[in-house]
Amino acid sequence: MKVEFVDLKAQYESIKGEIDAAMAGVIDGSSYIGGAGVKAFEENFARYVGTRHCIGVGNGTDALYVALKTLGIGPGDEVITVANSFIATSEAVTHTGAKVVFADCDERTYNISIRDLEAKISPRTKAIVPVHLYGNPADMDAIMALAGRHGLKVVEDCAQSHGASIRGRKTGTFGEFACFSFFPGKNLGAYGDAGALLTGDLSLAKQARMFANHGRIEKYNHETEGINSRLDGLQAAILDVKLRHLERWTERRRAIAAVYDREFSSLAATPIAAPEARHVYHLYVVRLGNRAKVQAHLAEKGIATGIHYPIPLPFLKAYARLGHAPADFPVAARYCEEILSLPIHGSMRDDEVAYVVEHFKAALKSG
Ligand SMILES: *Cc1c(COP(=O)(O)O)cnc(C)c1O
Repeated sequence: MKVEFVDLKAQYESIKGEIDAAMAGVIDGSSYIGGAGVKAFEENFARYVGTRHCIGVGNGTDALYVALKTLGIGPGDEVITVANSFIATSEAVTHTGAKVVFADCDERTYNISIRDLEAKISPRTKAIVPVHLYGNPADMDAIMALAGRHGLKVVEDCAQSHGASIRGRKTGTFGEFACFSFFPGKNLGAYGDAGALLTGDLSLAKQARMFANHGRIEKYNHETEGINSRLDGLQAAILDVKLRHLERWTERRRAIAAVYDREFSSLAATPIAAPEARHVYHLYVVRLGNRAKVQAHLAEKGIATGIHYPIPLPFLKAYARLGHAPADFPVAARYCEEILSLPIHGSMRDDEVAYVVEHFKAALKSG
């Protein structure tokens, strides 16, 4: 047996009729950039998240960049984000001309450490970019309180947290902006690159939409220079179909996580979500002392695993200029040696889950 890390083929086969019809509709109507389909998805996704305005863009990285630019972040500013994320989060900050400042991750949730975040706030700090890593909501109560006290903007990186919530309020409704990725392997994924940013503020929404579309007011009339980052009609149509299935797939992820929790929690460090949080398990990440052996054992059994992420952002060569040492981010430095992501996705079958349970337990014993 082979268990894929994400199975996009199985997902497609389960909704093939709907997807094929939606794609044919776009091609029939020749509305490839913008158009009614993009608007419909933007409205449906904003309603799903529980905020007013959604601007479709080319990918999640652009969503972060457009959000920060719209908030006026630039040279001389500092933006704080977490050491354990994908480089898109920090890249977007650097591209505005601002300085990225990393905070360590929390020992329990692997999300941004509130204590270290507070310690990193300086007179130059303009914004915080919390990441709802692995689909587990960051501590937004504490982050919004800190932002309020220090007059900081908050841009939520929701690239891994479609549908996650805190006391029923979805991630993406707390900060000035929320940035989503629809990279194919994300919980809501397109058939190519796609992303969106959301905000409750009409004026910010208008500015963001303008910036993402060449600073355009109307055809050939430009208020500023912007960038070209738009959601295309085919991706929007695919996403609109998939959005209708997202809750079902999310519940499937949560049910698999519950099985893993029950089976593994006495053997390894399993994910911890706050009682008021709905974790959507983009990734199911455990910590182990003997990771390499366990990973090799699983690979031998045909079970795909991943490491998210093997090198914390501050230790990447890309950030050598910041001169960080492991002691600056002790939790991230330790966890990157121990974390292992197990297969979990909305189309995973019971027999695949049972197979992972059996062989992960065996691998832990043999290691
Ligand atoms: C995937 C991801 C992004 C970037 O999204 P793209 O659509 O690939 O540009 C940003 N942040 C995090 C945490 C991600 O996982």
